[in-house]
Amino acid sequence: MKRQYDMLVVGGGPGGAFAAKTAAEKGLSVCLVEKRPAIGTPVRCAEGIGKELLTDFLPPDPKWISTDIERAELVAPDGFSMLLEPSKAGNEVGYILDRKVFDRELVWKAAEAGTETYVKARATAPIMRNGAVAGAVIEQHGKKYEINADIVIAADGIESKFARWAGIDTTVPYKEIETCAQYLMTGLPIDSKRTTFYLGNEIAPAGYLWVFPKGDGTANVGIGIGGDKSGDGHRAKDYLDRFIAQKFPNGKTIELIIGGVSVCKPLASTVADNMMIVGDAARISDPITGGGIYNAMYTGRLAGQTAIAAIEAGDTSREALMPYDTTWRASKMGKAIERNYAIKEVFTRLNDEKLNSIVHSISKINLEHFSTLTLLKELMKANPSLLLELRHLR
Ligand code: FAD
Repeated sequence: MKRQYDMLVVGGGPGGAFAAKTAAEKGLSVCLVEKRPAIGTPVRCAEGIGKELLTDFLPPDPKWISTDIERAELVAPDGFSMLLEPSKAGNEVGYILDRKVFDRELVWKAAEAGTETYVKARATAPIMRNGAVAGAVIEQHGKKYEINADIVIAADGIESKFARWAGIDTTVPYKEIETCAQYLMTGLPIDSKRTTFYLGNEIAPAGYLWVFPKGDGTANVGIGIGGDKSGDGHRAKDYLDRFIAQKFPNGKTIELIIGGVSVCKPLASTVADNMMIVGDAARISDPITGGGIYNAMYTGRLAGQTAIAAIEAGDTSREALMPYDTTWRASKMGKAIERNYAIKEVFTRLNDEKLNSIVHSISKINLEHFSTLTLLKELMKANPSLLLELRHLR
């Protein structure tokens, strides 16, 4: 194993994989370390992604697509359900991936492009020189060694310890972590082409419950609730178990995952001298849905591109890496995060009566295309006092 690279990537999720692939393709020497023994497992995701978002990165491949979704359903707290057909549902429909295969494929592509990849290799501390990151201490098979790099990409997901160790404040307020529980279930009487989202404070306080089909009566059935809503007897898994006992009493559980999703604002800065922070580690996930696969790929690719330019210019200082930060913030994704954060702040305070009224009113209008902007308009109609709070977003 070499001990010096142009770029070291910590974490082999979609963010790290895209950063590594992008930089290695252009000839940078890249090393990727992943703490788990196998890329992609265990899956901590409901695996949904909008079609257009995915194809921005790679052509869809049946080997990592579980289901091609055609419609989305939104169920109000009072049980009223509205169906969004494909032409209207936008990114609420898409693919349900098989992330065990998908994540592996992304790292595979990075390796094919020339990235040296090490699994069961955990970054345990940054190497700091003159106050700047210069690599990482790696622990693998009971041994410790150092890997030096001109640029380090912190792509270590929601746990995001690397950037914190390097001095960046990555704290997420407790109430802005959605605590999640999800079963992979089979034997379910569901429409295999439809994702369903259940809303309501009795069902999923400050969050939502989802059923994402994976084919053959199988689905990811999961829930995210506001961190401050969780407690003894009313944790995410308790809500989910109650729902399943009622809705899918004969379903069989194959897997359980517990995880967290940040629904806070992204980090104030996602660059430092010799370091860029991507994906969940930078809190760049959608504050309404918690979705972050696309965001991780987008920021990973951008970080890879920025690294190429910085290495070519021989300057990896914070200033030289700043285009990464400013570009993703100014992108469509960055703007959507900003807007959706403001909507989320309002949405999580709504009582069931208001939620009912919103779903009912959305179902009545002839939507050209469902989007968060449409949701915003309906939110305002249902609660005119929001006009004041959200007027800057229109
Ligand atoms: P990750 O995919 O988390 O990858 C980080 C990697 O870094 C991991 O493999 C980890 O093992 C590794 N790592 C961590 N620390 C170290 C270390 N010290 N050394 C080496 N390696 C390390 N998003 C969607 O778009 N759609 C969904 O339907 C969806 N559903 C979700 C459901 C749940 C229950 C949860 C928890 C999340 C969901 N998400 C969803 C979010 C999505 O999973 C993440 O946004 C996405 O995986 C972020 O990619 P990433 O590369 O930033 O991080």
